[in-house]
Amino acid sequence: MDVAIVGTGPNGLAAGVILARAGLSVRMYEAGDTIGGGLRSRALFDDEIVHDLCSAVHPMGAAARFFREFDLGARGVDMLQPEASYAHPFPDGPAGVAYHSLDRTCAELGADGPRWRRLMAPLLEHSRAIVDLFLSDQRRLPNDPLVPLLLGSRTLAHGTPLATRRFSGRTAPGLLAGVAAHSLGPLPSLPGAAVAMLLGHLAHGSGWRLPRGGSQRIADAMAADITAHGGVLHTAAPVEDLRELAGAKAVVLNVSPKVLLRLAGSLLPARYRERLAAWRYGPAAAKVDFLVSEPIPWADPEVGKAGTVHLGEDQRDIFAHETAVSRGVTVAHPFTLVVDPAVADPARARPGKRPVWAYCHVPNGDRSDPAERVQARIERYAPGFGDTVLARRGVPAAELEEYNPNYAGGDIAGGAVTLPQMLFRPTPRWHPYRTPLSGVYLCSASTPPGPSVHGMAGYYAAADVLRREFGIRDLPSLKPDHR
Ligand SMILES: Cc1cc2nc3c(=O)[nH]c(=O)nc-3n(C[C@H](O)[C@H](O)[C@H](O)COP(=O)(O)OP(=O)(O)OC[C@H]3O[C@@H](n4cnc5c(N)ncnc54)[C@H](O)[C@@H]3O)c2cc1C
Repeated sequence: MDVAIVGTGPNGLAAGVILARAGLSVRMYEAGDTIGGGLRSRALFDDEIVHDLCSAVHPMGAAARFFREFDLGARGVDMLQPEASYAHPFPDGPAGVAYHSLDRTCAELGADGPRWRRLMAPLLEHSRAIVDLFLSDQRRLPNDPLVPLLLGSRTLAHGTPLATRRFSGRTAPGLLAGVAAHSLGPLPSLPGAAVAMLLGHLAHGSGWRLPRGGSQRIADAMAADITAHGGVLHTAAPVEDLRELAGAKAVVLNVSPKVLLRLAGSLLPARYRERLAAWRYGPAAAKVDFLVSEPIPWADPEVGKAGTVHLGEDQRDIFAHETAVSRGVTVAHPFTLVVDPAVADPARARPGKRPVWAYCHVPNGDRSDPAERVQARIERYAPGFGDTVLARRGVPAAELEEYNPNYAGGDIAGGAVTLPQMLFRPTPRWHPYRTPLSGVYLCSASTPPGPSVHGMAGYYAAADVLRREFGIRDLPSLKPDHR
């Protein structure tokens, strides 16, 4: 065997696609019963209704270089864009809505419309370069010299206490704070503002898309490509000790530092071990899946056009709640994300039943069942929601780690999103995917470029493996028709 890959999350699968296409013999080992890591979907309460167990919405599914080349659409995975990328209801008055159309969004924002346009339009003009910079291995200069300027000025303006003075109304700040909260950390912050610029402009560009049929379709398309190129995937195959893979010329680990320590602790040099042990995990997510009888009865029906809904009140509340949660404090009204996938993909619903996906932010390791709290959050903006709930399942943050050991304490980002941890992910090394063990590489969200479904950690790790272990400098084509 040339390469053994441990884990079939999006990064492990991206590495598998590239290495198998390069002509190497690839075997993948997945602890779970099914492949996909954060891309898994399945029926939970009713055979006809599929729920996304982790990721549901994919701003990077069209934007990231791996997926641009892999081309999900050409492989039969339709990436559906709802009329609005995200919405932000308020308990009183109209909701903020980030439509896919920038023009329409600005028109609805009134006096803040021109400011929203000045913020987003230049980013949209340079979108490809911005995405490639964010999703780089953080070890190269940007191709477009304007991009650091555009991003730097906006990140400083929105990542510091000055953020509260950028708009005149409450809607635009609320919208932006909700996007910044995807960074899972204290707010305002530079990483939060950077995430808000990246995701915020994509909402009006390549979109916040949902795969028709659920996220599992993305994993299945990647797995099909691996097997078509001779790779083999084993499920229910946990790797407990790195020495089990001694027969492979190279090993690629789609795991977080905590799991790496478990697999290879005694084999690693003491200094590297200490650095891995010092890796900080961040705030957590607590997930709730609902089976409901009808579309969410949002008080403002415009919210029902959005793929993603952020529940967090005003900018000030979101900043306060996210900061408290990142300090380990439980808040009564946590920031909550809600997705009704049938808004974009009506076939996800059947008469009288449809899935609703939600999670809220809680302190790392939180053990409380989030179901009641999240249902109350939705009810506040959609009175009568509770009456539509046919079944529900809450997964406490601490239990997410049992489902996927990479989610330590429920941290779905693979490690706190702080400036040092984004640059030195997971340790200060020029080649972040290499470990001190010969032929052993890391490729999870705990390596650059960090969390989310983009496949780019797998992409860069695979490129490094090809070059260093097999002397292959050119990456294979990822196009569907290329063999
Ligand atoms: C509730 C939730 C909602 C999310 N929503 C979104 C979203 O909407 N959009 C988005 O872009 N991202 C979202 N994310 C984040 C996204 O899922 C992750 O950033 C992404 O999946 C990380 O990918 P990865 O390849 O690094 O690893 P993972 O997806 O974590 O996969 C790692 C795989 O490795 C396996 N594994 C680990 N250890 C071993 C071992 N020893 N032996 C064998 N197998 C092993 C695990 O079982 C798992 O299958 C969400 C995550 C969660 C939990």
